[in-house]
Amino acid sequence: MTRTHRFKAVLLPLVLAGCAIGEAGNPAPATAAAQEAGASTGGVHRFRIGALEAASLFDGGMTAPNDGKTIWRDPDAATIGRVLAAAGLPADQVRLDINVLMVRVGDRVLLVDSGYGQANPNAGKLVESLRAAGLAPESVTDIAISHGHGDHVGGLTAFPNARVHMAAAEWEAVQSNPRNAALVAVVGNRVNAFQPGATLLPGVTSVPVRGHTPGHMAYQIESRGQRLLAIGDSAHHYVISVREPEFTINFDGDAPTAEASRRALFGRASSERLRLFAPHFPAPGLGTVVKEGDGFRWVAGR
Ligand SMILES: [Zn+2]
Repeated sequence: MTRTHRFKAVLLPLVLAGCAIGEAGNPAPATAAAQEAGASTGGVHRFRIGALEAASLFDGGMTAPNDGKTIWRDPDAATIGRVLAAAGLPADQVRLDINVLMVRVGDRVLLVDSGYGQANPNAGKLVESLRAAGLAPESVTDIAISHGHGDHVGGLTAFPNARVHMAAAEWEAVQSNPRNAALVAVVGNRVNAFQPGATLLPGVTSVPVRGHTPGHMAYQIESRGQRLLAIGDSAHHYVISVREPEFTINFDGDAPTAEASRRALFGRASSERLRLFAPHFPAPGLGTVVKEGDGFRWVAGR
């Protein structure tokens, strides 16, 4: 079974099992301070990147048991549990949010990834969040895909007018998986299969982060000297992946490469104080990392 197959086969039953999803992951209601700095309402967290309007849109969440096989297998569940407990989190489960980045670039409306879509009852809220941000699905002009796993491409069919940007290697991998046949039929003629490093829109550049899937991409968005790096699945959990970059989730296709990429990315981010958008970190998934001991620490921020 390929990694992609296993990802779908494993995650779907998990979310269908109806774990404690939603309450903890829904963005906090707006406060006066939040309204000033960028509002969080109805699954929408607004912020700016230089001159660009942006928002983190909540799609849903996934909770998996920390059982040494479902999500993290190496190292063992006890070690992962200790890392979680040291951060004040439950040691017996792992929760991942699903956030989608929206940026307005001139007259373009860009999404980075498309959420899980309707296949997952605990996710698929992206369109609702987008509407809460005042945008119809038809108004999305561009979707930059980090990689072809279900929680990132599952929602693609909801955006009939969007050009879909995907690294050529990733698009090939998506097409070679028979499970994606329906998706490929709907979006195939709107895909821009690009080479790593390509600029997609003014200020929006793809940044290869190797190891998770064949053509996994981060995206750097820059305006007036401010930068944001949308890291895709370079890291999955805001404690485990950041404190221990060498702990590899089952879905990293090439684990040693993914580990090296993760450490290098966090090293760069901490030394440059680079603002990050991490789709699976707690909503809205915005923050920075600081070096701490052998690893790093996630500092959530706007
Ligand atoms: Zn993912």
